Amino acid sequence: MVIVGGGIIGVTTALFLASRNIPVTLLEKGRVAAEQSSRNWGWIRKQGRDADELPIVIEAIRLWRQLAEECGEDIGLNQTGVTYLANADKDMAKFEEFMRIAAIHELDTRLLGADETAKLITGMSRRFKGAMTTPSDMRAEPWLAVPALARLATRKGVRIVENCAARTLEIAAGRIKGVWTEAGYIETSTVLVAGGAWSSLFLARHGVAIPQLSVRVTAAATEPMPEVYRGAAADDHIAFRRRQDGGYTLWGLTHSGTSPSIFPPSGTIRSARAISRSLRQATRMAGRRRAIGRRIPQALSKECACSTQPLSRQSFARSSAISNSFSPGSRRFA
Ligand SMILES: Cc1cc2nc3c(=O)[nH]c(=O)nc-3n(C[C@H](O)[C@H](O)[C@H](O)COP(=O)(O)OP(=O)(O)OC[C@H]3O[C@@H](n4cnc5c(N)ncnc54)[C@H](O)[C@@H]3O)c2cc1C
Repeated sequence: MVIVGGGIIGVTTALFLASRNIPVTLLEKGRVAAEQSSRNWGWIRKQGRDADELPIVIEAIRLWRQLAEECGEDIGLNQTGVTYLANADKDMAKFEEFMRIAAIHELDTRLLGADETAKLITGMSRRFKGAMTTPSDMRAEPWLAVPALARLATRKGVRIVENCAARTLEIAAGRIKGVWTEAGYIETSTVLVAGGAWSSLFLARHGVAIPQLSVRVTAAATEPMPEVYRGAAADDHIAFRRRQDGGYTLWGLTHSGTSPSIFPPSGTIRSARAISRSLRQATRMAGRRRAIGRRIPQALSKECACSTQPLSRQSFARSSAISNSFSPGSRRFA
């Protein structure tokens, strides 16, 4: 099987297939976890989940613990809790709704009053109506975790090829025959596309439409600093979490330059209904600012989707090379 994309989805899928003795080649156009999978907040949370999602998250948390042990590397997995802060009574009402779901799953989630919330974060100048907190929620350091899982996958026999974009699928009589890559052709009857924001562009040329909305968001990272809160917290304007190195990762909705921009993917009209809820949410998050990107970044243009992409060559200082079988001279891998 060939997997396109070396983010958390591609890497963990490869890992699980390898444990079932299914041979896997994973293609990554840049470096493993050099895109979204190393840039997220690293929250592993049960709190605030949809009732249908919660059993999946509970299983994911069990898997995170197991994989952290199997990796034998520090991936920054820690139980430091997640807290949502309430600005208004309506926020508290939403939290109370979640408490019903939390009770069914016997979560340790609890509501805090205004006084208890005020003591939660050192130096907090604002007074909140209250909060909801789940102390057992966890975090991992994304840029440590995904490369560590990729190394585990290679130890289990997965062939990871970095700096090698999949360009197009070879399809005959409605069946997959192989994948054309930057470095040659791979024969295979099964391809799993885990290309993150690029998946809809990659698949559109094969007539497969997946409703996908690209939203560009800016986050910030502080230098190590004195601890003001051990875990992760958010209200509807700002989210932050303490990192393992002692710094904080922040995401604010109200500051200039940090509001989301939305880039409608190809096939937006076709998938308009499917993405309408996400589009509304993203537009609300963007507030009064210009929500829709005036210009789709070059990296998201169709022309770039399957060739050498600007983003693919962007190096990510904290990730180290994973490839275990890249052979630039080879025109045919399998
Ligand atoms: C602001 C923000 C905060 C988030 N916070 C959290 C959080 O706290 N906790 C959490 O669990 N999730 C969080 N997420 C979600 C999480 O980051 C994503 O769900 C996850 O990283 C998606 O992983 P992926 O493997 O699907 O995609 P990606 O990480 O984008 O990986 C896709 C990979 O495919 C590669 N690729 C694409 N096209 C090709 C091609 N043609 N050939 C070869 N390779 C290709 C790309 O280079 C990329 O490396 C957050 C997301 C955002 C935007």
